[in-house]
Amino acid sequence: MTSSASATELMPYDDVLAAYDPALGLEVHVELNTASKMFCGCPAVFGGEPNAGVCPTCLGLPGAMPVVNGKAVESAIRIGLALNCDIAEWCRFARKNYFYPDMPKNFQTSQYDEPICFDGYMDVDVDGETYRVEIERAHMEEDTGKSLHVGGSTGRIHGADYSLVDYNRAGIPLIEIVTRPILGAGEKAPEVARAYVAQLRELIVALGVSEARMDQGNLRADVNLSLSPKGSGVLGTRTETKNVNSFRSVERAVRFEMQRHAAILSGGGSILQETRHWHEDTGITTSGREKSDAEDYRYFPEPDLVPVAPSREWVEELRGTLPENPTTRRARLQAEWGFSDLEMRDTVGAGALGLVEETIAEGAAPQAARKWWLGELARRSNEDGVDLVDLPITPADVARIQALVDEKVVNDKLARQVFEGVLAGEGTPDEVVEKRGLAVVSDDGALGVAVDNAIAANPDVADKIRDGKVAAAGALIGAVMKEMRGQADAGRVRELILEKLS
Ligand SMILES: [Zn+2]
Repeated sequence: MTSSASATELMPYDDVLAAYDPALGLEVHVELNTASKMFCGCPAVFGGEPNAGVCPTCLGLPGAMPVVNGKAVESAIRIGLALNCDIAEWCRFARKNYFYPDMPKNFQTSQYDEPICFDGYMDVDVDGETYRVEIERAHMEEDTGKSLHVGGSTGRIHGADYSLVDYNRAGIPLIEIVTRPILGAGEKAPEVARAYVAQLRELIVALGVSEARMDQGNLRADVNLSLSPKGSGVLGTRTETKNVNSFRSVERAVRFEMQRHAAILSGGGSILQETRHWHEDTGITTSGREKSDAEDYRYFPEPDLVPVAPSREWVEELRGTLPENPTTRRARLQAEWGFSDLEMRDTVGAGALGLVEETIAEGAAPQAARKWWLGELARRSNEDGVDLVDLPITPADVARIQALVDEKVVNDKLARQVFEGVLAGEGTPDEVVEKRGLAVVSDDGALGVAVDNAIAANPDVADKIRDGKVAAAGALIGAVMKEMRGQADAGRVRELILEKLS
């Protein structure tokens, strides 16, 4: 613990709820998976050799002229429609003027008072209750480049010896989705925030418009939070925690900020309107930069781009390409899979709906798919502090491990070791079974020897079984399994014991 971390005073969560009502707001940036950038033909691929995927337009060189990426507009409209938004008949881009070293034009091309999508909502399920999250707007903009701060211990600019800038990401299309203040969530505010981001991601994946990997920064959440004295209805001063990069962290950041705000307010202090940094390792936020509502970016309509005016025919055509509505989809899947309400709620709550669905599509039975994702893998994701979707294992791997169990190549216990091996990067499930020598022995020769040894070592148990007390076989099965280090087909062992002692 650093001294600044231990200096942050927090109010116990229950006390926060007794005195204050939380108001949430979420801003989520989605990086689209278009082939080219928002306003030029450069590849929209982040990574690779720094500054290789750039041109005069995305470098902001004099005289370069931007052109809107039609596919990005299409994706924006589909996202808006899926969020029950109205789609503007006519809207413009705007310049948001400010200086930042990784933004070569000295302005970001965004949308201001004319977003392409507005006035929508998404219904979010938390523990069987539905919260309607109102969407204020979803607008198009471009990403910035990326700075790399070299030297220093934190990777932040403070303490660095020098900084490098990579413009490959500059101009990659983004959609920013902004909620209205979310009120009335009370004690569930952290879970509602998490569920909103998780369900939004699910929707983005179903639309196929982004890779939507939070750990890769394709989907980034900024979490706004304020408290008002209980029942007053007066919104307090908010803070904005930037770039929270997992569902789990969204929940933790909201809870932390609620407890921090409450401690300050109850001590007679006031909240500074500012951005905050989220620290994944310590689970705390620290002060970023002060941010006032009066911040003036001198927005003005972008003179180099024509307005975007999607025809109503096109919008309706795109409406026809939408995936199933999430509520309908959940009800359908629950019926298909035969899950109880509680099983379904846990699956959705864990952010595992899509993973379970894919695992079933790869051939696993619904209950088996659920069992692994919500059991073994949920435990691992908690231990490692990552979301399920970011674990280094695919639904196809999970389905294959279950198939190995069904084929009696491994039992449940050995299957856990297969999971361990796959997560440790040892290869496919079959390779892990091979390399670790995990296959169970069902060959009667080897098992027979172990059974004979167990009988010889436990003559009194053997006598009981001979006298018809079949239940006593458990002790001998245990002895055989121990000798075989768990790698025996327990059903076959039981048969052999009863054959030999009948
Ligand atoms: Zn370019």
